[in-house]
Amino acid sequence: MTILLATLNARYSHASLGLRYLQANMGDLQGDTHLHEFVIGSKTTDIVEKLLANKAADGGTTIVGFGVYIWNIEETTKVVAMLKCVAPEIVIVLGGPEVSYESEQQQIVKQADYLVTGWGDIAFPELCQQILNGPKPLMKTHIGKQPPMEDITLPYALYSDHDIKHRTLYVEASRGCPFKCEFCLSALDKTAWPFALDNFLAELESLHARGARLFKFVDRTFNLNIKTSLKIMQFFLDKLDANPDDPVFAHFELVPDHLPDALKEGISKFPAGTLQFEIGIQSFNPEVQTLVSRKQNNQKAAENIRWLMTESHAHLHVDLIAGLPGEDVESFARGFDQLVALQPHEIQFGILKRLRGTPIIRHTEAYGLVFDPHPPYTILATDRIDFATMQRLVRFSRYWDLVANSGRFAHTLPILLGATPFNNFMAFSDWLYSKTDATHRIALDRLAGLVGQWLRLQGLSDATVNAVLSTDYAGQPPKLPSAPKKVEKHEHAPSVAPQRQARHLVA
Ligand code: SF4
Repeated sequence: MTILLATLNARYSHASLGLRYLQANMGDLQGDTHLHEFVIGSKTTDIVEKLLANKAADGGTTIVGFGVYIWNIEETTKVVAMLKCVAPEIVIVLGGPEVSYESEQQQIVKQADYLVTGWGDIAFPELCQQILNGPKPLMKTHIGKQPPMEDITLPYALYSDHDIKHRTLYVEASRGCPFKCEFCLSALDKTAWPFALDNFLAELESLHARGARLFKFVDRTFNLNIKTSLKIMQFFLDKLDANPDDPVFAHFELVPDHLPDALKEGISKFPAGTLQFEIGIQSFNPEVQTLVSRKQNNQKAAENIRWLMTESHAHLHVDLIAGLPGEDVESFARGFDQLVALQPHEIQFGILKRLRGTPIIRHTEAYGLVFDPHPPYTILATDRIDFATMQRLVRFSRYWDLVANSGRFAHTLPILLGATPFNNFMAFSDWLYSKTDATHRIALDRLAGLVGQWLRLQGLSDATVNAVLSTDYAGQPPKLPSAPKKVEKHEHAPSVAPQRQARHLVA
């Protein structure tokens, strides 16, 4: 017999943490359990062929467990359908957030033999034992069990040396979130559950000893328990102190309105290129926040972002969501301009998606929410934003990524945005689309030419446009709003920060 754990990652560089948790917790089945990771966009036949090449050699039972996510559900559905055609004897078990809710109607669930919803660390190995050794499971759907956190074996030793060298290493010090933002799957968690910190830090230590330098924390709220946050940050600061020429890079998700002084002090010790925060603002509109049950002190959040930009070297990636119930274009624009004024390195302009299981659907009727029925279930219209306007926002988001978040137009961007960033960029976005009829595959040279053309149309002289664009091409980044004051060590440490962040951070 053999057990294959498979998933389609969004990119090769993303190593699946979920599959590694399953493998680590297989108990006496671990020796017969093997990981098979694929990347979306691969041919279905290739994936099926590779899985079949690894089925049980002795003609015994083969179980394939698929990790199903919003980004791979369509392709995984095809893989499962083909597997069932060419090898119906294979037992297919599904798990993952995309099949954990509203599963009855899903085609992929109908085709599979079993489904594990929610936490699979314990439920999946138990189900495999029953399939292999009996008694045969009576039910198709198995509700995942949430064991005490100390009963879950940590999976980090399963990152191979190749993973450590070439892929992003995802780690988590806790699962869950105590907040209830209705557009988010974590809203269903009710609380956050920490792993035993000493064990977790020991795993980080061994990953570091094996050469890991880039750590991405998937904890939903890193700054929930400040004592824990400080200990984790200290781990990285100790590594930076001991190895200034071989630095680490850590990424955390923060809630923006909770940054006590002790945490600020720790953050301010990190040199440039070693720390990144993803911060969810989502909306600055208090009425929208109340509607979607998001508790956020906007003033505190803004102060903290300003502090991070002026007093630390952390790279900031801040999220806003367009299309929330109760938000019209004008109120979104006000929030966007407010955020631009705080000058984070990147603004992720997201469009609302209806994740399966999230409570946001309670507003569907009252706020005219229309979602695409196909993954990723993006909002198409609301009672305040019609379909055509929503498509303009979608293009704005894409072009914002190309022009602003890319860091390639650092000197040009402030000119392009002027005093009314949202309106000016929207006008540019509409014009750019009229010229290109595309939002993808626009070569950088062509984009730069079009940015220049737009600025000339706004009345800027050739000389000014050429000067500013050539500065960007010369790769000289602008000064940050004010020089960080507290960081003294390792100011010029070599950086392992991903390229885009490095472009934003070079000072
Ligand atoms: S958006 Fe963030 S804070 Fe809100 S429930 Fe989700 S993870 Fe928690």
